[in-house]
Amino acid sequence: MKKSIAILGSTGSIGRQTLDVVSASSNFAKVFALATKGYLNIFKQQLKKFRPKYAYIADEIFDKQNFSKYGAKILEGKSSLEKIASDKNVDIVVMAIVGTAGLKAVISAIRSQKTIALASKEILVAAGDIVMSLSKKYKAQILPIDSEHSAIFQCLECNRQNKIRRIILTASGGPFKNYSKKQIDSVTAKQALAHPTWNMGPKITIDSSTLMNKGLEVIEAHHLFQVPYEKIEVVIHPQSIVHSMVEFEDGVILAQLGVPDMRTAIQYALFYPKRLQKNFGIVNLSEIKNLSFEKPDTEKFPCLDLAYYAGKKGGTAPAVLSAANDVAVELFLNNKIKFYDIPKIISKVLKNHRFIKTPTLEQILESEIWARNFARKLSE
Ligand code: MG
Repeated sequence: MKKSIAILGSTGSIGRQTLDVVSASSNFAKVFALATKGYLNIFKQQLKKFRPKYAYIADEIFDKQNFSKYGAKILEGKSSLEKIASDKNVDIVVMAIVGTAGLKAVISAIRSQKTIALASKEILVAAGDIVMSLSKKYKAQILPIDSEHSAIFQCLECNRQNKIRRIILTASGGPFKNYSKKQIDSVTAKQALAHPTWNMGPKITIDSSTLMNKGLEVIEAHHLFQVPYEKIEVVIHPQSIVHSMVEFEDGVILAQLGVPDMRTAIQYALFYPKRLQKNFGIVNLSEIKNLSFEKPDTEKFPCLDLAYYAGKKGGTAPAVLSAANDVAVELFLNNKIKFYDIPKIISKVLKNHRFIKTPTLEQILESEIWARNFARKLSE
């Protein structure tokens, strides 16, 4: 039977690549629902091509008729994402909305015991304790779409009973790996958007250039695999072929290799535990020749340490870190601040934040709003 898939955030980079995967494996999957905010022309094309049963547009103004002509029922109201995520006809909810806007929909999917293919790492960063404990309670599986976490997940298959000594997350190092601190100080958003190996959305591309993306992934890995921060290490691996590794108690390291193409990780999550035939490129090791690894330079890229600090502190700190980063990245993208203002803003927001050790979901969301406002004020 075909898997019935709901893609929340279908017009973003991950959403579009998920639809590529569905197209390439249309004997095994069908699109049940799509949701977007903005990018209405792309969305219309998606409705036309994939003919989902439901669609949701988070914008306030749009011409409903323009979209309903392709057969989808256009949902209205703020709880539409939650409705889609809990619909009895959905097998997998792909959460690909940037930030934490999809948090409530993820919780709704968990309560309905859906499988969740999670791309929005900010959700686990902000509310990992709550989300993971609910997923355990309702036995809802969360499958990572992040390539590193997909790699770790795959390395852990057949090894669930074995103790992990270390998780080794690989990072490409971003476009400024070989720049001096002085050179980095004057880089522009345009330079930061040119990622050497991965093709991704703008927010995550900037996060890769600051290494905050890796920092958020450390927190994501901590929650997904329930491993303490002391056992999560980051190495720079510029070729982006080894997507991450797990070291076990006996010192053996398992690694997962693949081309740097998100669609491989998406395909694995959608059809897990089955591996479908390859559709998106293979690794040619003799062509690549070298796979290199080195320590990250946290003097040049302070965001990584900030993420470890917030992660270890726990409570509301990671949500505040992520929200402050979000605002700082947006300001940088709009050429309002400089590259090193990003860690400066995040660090100031963390220092001024009223920390809560075991927050409720509401307290997490409130602390995010506070962090956003405070970060904006700092840049004025
Ligand atoms: Mg990643």
